[in-house]
Amino acid sequence: MSDVATTVTTVGHWINGAEVAPADARTSPVYDPALGVETKRVVLAEQTDADEAVAAAHTAYLQWRDVSLARRTTILFKFRELLNERKGELAEIITSEHGKVLDDALGEISRAQEVVEYACGITTHLRGHFSEQVSTGFDIHSMQQPIGVAAIISPFNFPAMVPGWFFPIAIAAGNAVVVKPSEKDPTAANWFAALWQEAGLPDGVFNVLHGDKVAVDALLTHPDVASISFVGSTPIAKYVYETGTAHGKRVQALGGAKNHMLVLPDADLDLVADSAINAGFGSAGERCMAISVVVAVEPVADGLIEKVVERMGKLRVGDGRRGCDMGPLVTKQHRDKVAGYIDVAIEDGADVVVDGRGIEVDGEADGFWLGPTLIDRVPVTSRVYTEEIFGPVLAVVRVASYEEGVELINNGAFGNGTAIFTNDGGAARRFQNEIEVGMVGINVPIPVPIASYSFGGWKDSMFGDTKAHGAEGVKFFTRQKAITTRWLDPSHGGINLGFPQTD
Ligand code: NAD
Repeated sequence: MSDVATTVTTVGHWINGAEVAPADARTSPVYDPALGVETKRVVLAEQTDADEAVAAAHTAYLQWRDVSLARRTTILFKFRELLNERKGELAEIITSEHGKVLDDALGEISRAQEVVEYACGITTHLRGHFSEQVSTGFDIHSMQQPIGVAAIISPFNFPAMVPGWFFPIAIAAGNAVVVKPSEKDPTAANWFAALWQEAGLPDGVFNVLHGDKVAVDALLTHPDVASISFVGSTPIAKYVYETGTAHGKRVQALGGAKNHMLVLPDADLDLVADSAINAGFGSAGERCMAISVVVAVEPVADGLIEKVVERMGKLRVGDGRRGCDMGPLVTKQHRDKVAGYIDVAIEDGADVVVDGRGIEVDGEADGFWLGPTLIDRVPVTSRVYTEEIFGPVLAVVRVASYEEGVELINNGAFGNGTAIFTNDGGAARRFQNEIEVGMVGINVPIPVPIASYSFGGWKDSMFGDTKAHGAEGVKFFTRQKAITTRWLDPSHGGINLGFPQTD
């Protein structure tokens, strides 16, 4: 066991402006993955806790929706300033519960901050339309109104960025939110709640409900929840989409991924090797936009693998607070599951070029470590290829042509992100047209769109048709009302039971 002294604290829900931890609540452990010790316990909601959180949000929404855009924006700007000043605190929380290195935690916070900045322009984003004289003496205009209580259910791998894709826009548009974070790293959501309070957001507009399936099911079926924004694994995303829509809610449910990088023979192999390392092993591969398969169009594979292996040897794995390149995995159970894929690769006849098990680390021995792993000649029938591994395991598949590579990618179940590496503009243009994936990088390994564009994949990587943030985010958190008006010179046509016609 580690000799690092820790005190186990309890993380409670945040409802109506205060943290609450029912004395008899079920709880779940929260680990510091680099130490391998339990540091906190998070409460797990029952139906009654969910009812309380939704009731607080609904009451707050009825007031908040009528607060002027000018006042809402003032609070958003204040929140942005506080977030920018204090992001170091939040990064430390993320690293202590998720394990990713501090710089990487700051990176995810900056992407959440971008969405806050986008939401600061809500006055522009909510502009409606006006058409004069659409029929004689008739005008029509439209407006965007909030939808009510928005539930946000997030995964462990981005405890700040993923909720931050949704809540700034939802709140700016006049809704109240209930965030259900991952039980593995719950504290970031409470930190956001306290920051909103300091920024002047009225109590009840931002609530946090911690929990497991019980909490999720309560939100999916609650009559006062208007929408569900879910991000997590594909089976749960599908379940959330089906259950939420069956209960009359609008649902955006983003699922898992298996992202391929297609390398053409004319690519800059140093750029490709750097990109494969960064996108394959950053955050220990626990990113939905991680590259997990390098598709090498021959004859590049041998030369590329040599460059990747050379770079892997220089990576420092260890405690994210010690300036390392890569941290631990989130839990022991997840580390063991990911490490198990290396045995699967060997059984399936692949070549394990670098085995990350037993790596030397700059951290406590009990941390949930697995070093960067590279597996060549992975058969596409192997579970190493077909399943989302979500760890620092990079697979190489060799193909004979561009066409074979595209066919491979398009035949996959997921469609979150992909990238092509080439110096041939025509090939890149063809790729962006032919590839069946929602987010595409051209010489960019992690093509996460900026806040004003929307984030979301295709196929089993997303259920629902409205993506996160950008214009689609504004659309998701509002409903349009169209108003037809007649004021001047109303011609009284008398009684006419016919359907209204324009003239
Ligand atoms: P997960 O699906 O296990 O959990 C996500 C959320 O669902 C959590 O809040 C969890 O408490 C809840 N949940 C878990 N099991 C549930 C159940 N049976 N019923 C109802 N709710 C349940 O995902 P995770 O392990 O936390 O996160 C990793 C996954 O998220 C990966 O598959 C990754 O690709 C995906 N992800 C996708 C995106 C994207 O944008 N597409 C972004 C980040 C992560």
